[in-house]
Amino acid sequence: MTKSAGTKGVAVLGSTGSIGTTALRVLERQRDRFRLVALTANSNRALLSEQVKRFAPAFVGMVEQQGDADDSWKSGSEALISAATRDDVDIVLNAIVGAAGLDATLAALKKGKRVALANKETLVIAGDVVKQACATGCGEVVPVDSEHSAILQCITGHPASEVRRVVLTASGGPFRGWSEEQLAKATVEDALRHPTWQMGRKITVDSATLANKALEVIEAHFLFDLPYDRIDVVVHPQSVIHSFVEFIDGSVVAQMSVPTMELPVLYALTHPERVSDVGVPPFDPVRLSPMTFEPVDHQRFPALRLGIEAGRAGGSAPAVFNAANECAVAAFLAGKIRFTDIPRAISSALDTLGDMPAGTRENLLAADSAARKHVKEKFQC
Ligand code: NAD
Ligand code: MG
Repeated sequence: MTKSAGTKGVAVLGSTGSIGTTALRVLERQRDRFRLVALTANSNRALLSEQVKRFAPAFVGMVEQQGDADDSWKSGSEALISAATRDDVDIVLNAIVGAAGLDATLAALKKGKRVALANKETLVIAGDVVKQACATGCGEVVPVDSEHSAILQCITGHPASEVRRVVLTASGGPFRGWSEEQLAKATVEDALRHPTWQMGRKITVDSATLANKALEVIEAHFLFDLPYDRIDVVVHPQSVIHSFVEFIDGSVVAQMSVPTMELPVLYALTHPERVSDVGVPPFDPVRLSPMTFEPVDHQRFPALRLGIEAGRAGGSAPAVFNAANECAVAAFLAGKIRFTDIPRAISSALDTLGDMPAGTRENLLAADSAARKHVKEKFQC
């Protein structure tokens, strides 16, 4: 894309993933407002090449070096930092999955960029460190996650003192009605069959265990400065209401749309403004009926409670929760452990390592490594 006055420069990290490709569709429609200046991916050379042809970005990074990649492409994880800190980048859309996205978020914030954050693991591992980086560089984090986008859309224009509590909605995932016996036999294929969202494999498994909702509770705590007793979760299988905010007068405001990530991606780029777009299909309340709600079953889905406890404990516990989960999900996807081993792995790591030193990026990454090692040894995966 050629640079033109008045447009904002965007770097998309993780452009080949589910959120990354969604973001490119949004940016293609919004060329008058945004120019795509940097793209990065882990290893999907074919899709990255196609995206480079379509958008002609000034910078391309592919983390895993491949002999036959274009010479002008940068490689290694430094490529993520280079993309995130360029002078012609105003907004970094971090759509990387997992802990690998942390350093790019920190670097972008220290340079005063807006980070449109899909990579929720970053905030879970190092929420306080991310907030310090915002303060140091005058950067800002704007959520892409649909629940947090919903909350932001509901509270924008209101002081924090007017918010009583927030209620995150959860679809309940593919195993909502499954018994404990059925869950013990759940296959990878079963776990990847999400009823309402098409997403990357890791977050789809997180949605099946409800670890995703635990990550989101911790994410909400850091994004909106809310104590854990003012963050609730309710199961809403249709994924039409993306979250609720209850204000101090008792009024409850919700944000809704048919399930699409194009809207939260666009809003993260334009907040607090809204711009004209055609990404969201028409809203038909009759066709979307009924909208139902039910409590979370913590017995069958213990990962949510484990994550909230880790969030409340603070320190290194959220980083241990996240790393144990990432490691266990990878092992489950590789066919090495059972679905019900995922919360067992998280629980075991938290029992053993939950109070390691925290406070700095280095300490938190040490906790992350220790948790992965613990899970690999304990579950031989
Ligand atoms: P995905 O697996 O589809 O895509 C991940 C992207 O990250 C890919 O482009 C991949 O190349 C890149 N990547 C993976 N490992 C990397 C590494 N080590 N270094 C650099 N790049 C790497 O995942 P996704 O579903 O798009 O999710 C991305 C993030 O957004 C996750 O944190 C997820 O929780 C969050 N999120 C996703 C959705 C959704 O609808 N998919 C919704 C809300 C939040
Ligand atoms: Mg979400």
